Order: sequence, then C-alpha cells, then structure tokens
Amino acid sequence: MTGVNLAGVTKRFGDVQVIHGVDLVVEDGEFCVFVGPSGCGKSTLLRMIAGLEKTTAGHIAIGDRDVTDADPADRGVAMVFQTYALYPHMTVAENMGFGLKMTGHSKAEVAAKVAEASRILKLDDYLTRKPKALSGGQRQRVAIGRAIVRGPEVFLFDEPLSNLDAELRVEMRGEIARLHREIGATMIYVTHDQVEAMTLADKIVVLRKGVIEQVGAPLELYNNPDNRFVAGFIGSPA
Ligand code: ADP
Ligand code: MG
Repeated sequence: MTGVNLAGVTKRFGDVQVIHGVDLVVEDGEFCVFVGPSGCGKSTLLRMIAGLEKTTAGHIAIGDRDVTDADPADRGVAMVFQTYALYPHMTVAENMGFGLKMTGHSKAEVAAKVAEASRILKLDDYLTRKPKALSGGQRQRVAIGRAIVRGPEVFLFDEPLSNLDAELRVEMRGEIARLHREIGATMIYVTHDQVEAMTLADKIVVLRKGVIEQVGAPLELYNNPDNRFVAGFIGSPA
C-alpha cells in the first residue's frame, strides 16, 4: 500500500504560517491534483511530501511508513519540476540514468531501467541525442524519465507543463494521463490550470491560503462546490 496520508501538516517560514494543519488521504494509485491560486501553498505542501521542506508540525505517511523526518531519498518518491535542468553535455540516456548511476546501480541495471522508461515515454529514437537537439516536449519527457527510472511509489509533479506552449501542454497532458494508466503509481500533481485539473484528476484538492477548501472528484466539485471560491476556481456556473 503506497497511498499518502497527511495529518495536521503545518508549515511556518519564520513567523509566517503558510500551511495550516492539512489533513488529506491520497489513495494508492490515485491521481490527485492540488489546485489553487499562486502563493496558496501548493509547492510547499508538495515539497514537504518530497522531504525537500521540513514540516513544522504534523505527520506524513507514505504507505504505512511515517516519513515525516525521513530523507528525500528514503521516501520512495520522485519529483518532476516546472524547470527541468537537463545536463547539456549528456545524452538523453545519460540524463535519465545519471541519478541511478550515482547511487551505485550497475551499468546493466541502469541500461534496463533507461530502456523501460524510454519505451514508456516513446524516447527510444532519441537516446543518443543531446538536450539541445530535442523539442520542449521531448525535454520534459526526459525529465519525467529521470523520475520513472527510480521506480518511485509516488510521483510528485510541480506544474510540469507550465513552461510549454498551449498546444504542447495539451499533448503532454495526454502523455501524463497515459503514464498514470500504464504505471499505476500514486501521483500528486500541482497546477493552477483548471482544465488540467479537471481532465487529469481522480481527486482534486482545492487550496486557498494554506487551507483545503474542498476535496472531491472533478465532477463532484463542479456540480457541488462548497463555496464561491471553489465554484469560481473550478469554473462551475454561478
Ligand atoms: P504556490 O506553489 O501555491 O504558488 P508556494 O508553496 O510556493 O505557493 O508558497 C506559499 C507561501 O509560502 C507564499 O506566500 C510564499 O511566499 C511562501 N514561501 C514559500 N517558500 C518560502 C520560503 N522558502 N521562505 C519564506 N516564504 C516562503
Ligand atoms: Mg508553486
């Protein structure tokens, strides 16, 4: 079981509290989307799940393990960011395998994982190319490949498509949906794009000022928003 469980998760930066006791269950294999306006705490919450940010209070569990104080590398999570700095001097295959190589995996093991990821992402024909010879969408695929090779139980995405143009965003949205169907891992996906949230999510978490306003399936939120903020954000008719 590799769902994610947040209990009373709180974050303060100095005197400023940005996440206020968030409770949330993300089921095993679920595609969960965090939406909300800029500055509401989406990235901070995701970074706490990844272990890149310490929690001020509360607990985070992945599966049945309490990972509140665990190192990022020991959590079984992999994160894909909006800005995906690939190593310019390395090929696609080297970029995808680098993390595994550094953590002591054998050459054969790295090659097998990279082959599997490139099959899933349809990058087989690009493995020997350098990043500068790739399109924006292909580069973002390589960044997702770096997460896949690690075989995480939980994928965390922080606005991975927001640097792409509109057409590519639609295409990559489909790719991410396919990735979820194929891998079946738990995914938590941050976006401020309502359409992305509505089309990708099993479950949407609407955040406002570090508090959850509502959690539900896309159509539940659309048809039954708890308040005007949720209605406005999800785009329900008034
Ligand atoms: P979102 O991803 O929803 O746009 P963030 O999680 O990045 O929001 O930020 C939530 C709030 O926390 C914002 O007010 C932001 O300024 C603040 N914040 C984020 N990171 C830090 C930090 N390292 N130090 C101080 N304040 C921060
Ligand atoms: Mg953010």
